[in-house]
Amino acid sequence: MNLVDQADQAASFDVAVIGAGVVGAALARAFTLAGAKVVVLEKAVDVLDGASKGNSAILHTGFDAPEGSVELACIREGYALYHDIRDRLGLPLVRAGAMVLAWTEEEEAGLPALVAQALANGVTDVQPLTGPEARALEPALSPAVRAGFRVPGEHLIDPWSAAHGYLLQALANGAVLMRQAEVLAGRRSGDGWHLATTAGEVSASLVINAAGLWGDEVDRRVTGESWFTIRPRKGQFVVYDKTAAALAGHILLPVPTKITKGIVVCRTAFGNLLVGPTAEEQDDREHATVERATLQALMQRGTEILPALAGHEVTAVYAGLRPATEAKEYRIRTDLAPGYICVGGIRSTGLSAALGIAAHVVRLAGRHDTAIADPVWPRMPNISVDGTRDWQCPGHGGIVCHCELVTRREIEAALTGPLAAGSLAGLKRRTRVTMGRCQGFYCSAELARMTEGRLAQPMVGPSHD
Ligand SMILES: Cc1cc2nc3c(=O)[nH]c(=O)nc-3n(C[C@H](O)[C@H](O)[C@H](O)COP(=O)(O)OP(=O)(O)OC[C@H]3O[C@@H](n4cnc5c(N)ncnc54)[C@H](O)[C@@H]3O)c2cc1C
Repeated sequence: MNLVDQADQAASFDVAVIGAGVVGAALARAFTLAGAKVVVLEKAVDVLDGASKGNSAILHTGFDAPEGSVELACIREGYALYHDIRDRLGLPLVRAGAMVLAWTEEEEAGLPALVAQALANGVTDVQPLTGPEARALEPALSPAVRAGFRVPGEHLIDPWSAAHGYLLQALANGAVLMRQAEVLAGRRSGDGWHLATTAGEVSASLVINAAGLWGDEVDRRVTGESWFTIRPRKGQFVVYDKTAAALAGHILLPVPTKITKGIVVCRTAFGNLLVGPTAEEQDDREHATVERATLQALMQRGTEILPALAGHEVTAVYAGLRPATEAKEYRIRTDLAPGYICVGGIRSTGLSAALGIAAHVVRLAGRHDTAIADPVWPRMPNISVDGTRDWQCPGHGGIVCHCELVTRREIEAALTGPLAAGSLAGLKRRTRVTMGRCQGFYCSAELARMTEGRLAQPMVGPSHD
């Protein structure tokens, strides 16, 4: 497999985006559609291998974002843009709505301030709820709920097809993706930059650091210094079987603290029920382990919120790392070096804000007045509960993963094309293969046959990453 997708051109670009997480993908799309020749440099064998591989997948309205912040503006714009483009890119939307719920007297006392903040943030359709009103909307809720408010605009999306769709549209309109291209150093010369990468040298007029959990390190490698420090914040999750999804139509949010949005209970776009995430600081930027005691505490919290959850099975567990820093704000700056923009510290709202961040950075770079004519709009295959699945359409070639109903045609499609999967984890993100009840027990052998010689990082057996 050619890891330097579409790249005969080890040459010169208008824009080099470092990092193919959801933010880098959205940046690549926005600059490409603005007419720039873009290269995306990703150190991993596949895209979405950092913070973007494990999150709660909530499309936030920004109701609780810091007032007047860049983060709020980017969430608001990103939210609107997602609604704008999702039909053309074939991206799903599960219109769940959220409820912020108070379980203690202290939390209840905090509700009016949160409602006021939502209104100030432009989220004007929030609706206060008494405990009985909350339970009338969500009958499986524990009677211990005291009060809350509804945020009808909070929704659920597929965290991976969104980012894949942004990147695929960039590639379809001329951008270049280089994988296994870790940026090692930068050198300014004339009007541009020369970036030394593990896949060779790349030149660009504008360099954008979207390196997520390595944002501070990439600043140091390219500009010689770093102005913030990444403090990875782990979030562990428990994923319940699909039968549990009927217990909660809304996204059930706690009253947030200064550090975290807290433990959420919500459906997923794939039809499961999720409890998590935790917020645990750690030094390790690569590994997000799960711990039995923490998972048990999450299950305990889940059953306190939805007592009937106790009768449901857990399908999977996972953890993700937020690229948090010593401050809450996004770390976006244009003044560190000429032709260099840092888009770092996109902590816990990056999935919702990505399209807004990209639009903001395009404006910062002064590229907002140009647009290519008639851009190509590739369509993403639907693997969510929002719409028809491939197994429901003729000619799919048979079902390979019976738990998640993944077809042979879907797997073949994910192994080919400009954004072909580079690893089993990448194949899972594109198709959900092995992600159901049996966690690959039944389909891994067939999958190993189908992927032989086609993944940059070969399958080594049933994987649970
Ligand atoms: C537990 C958890 C729950 C969350 N829930 C939500 C939610 O519900 N809604 C929401 O909107 N957001 C949520 N988020 C936040 C969201 O996932 C992040 O904000 C987002 O993924 C950050 O994306 P990024 O592109 O900035 O970083 P990343 O995804 O980390 O991407 C950076 C990329 O850069 C690459 N890279 C690093 N160094 C180099 C180098 N030297 N050269 C080349 N490439 C390099 C990495 O391999 C990586 O692929 C959550 C996050 C977590 C962890």
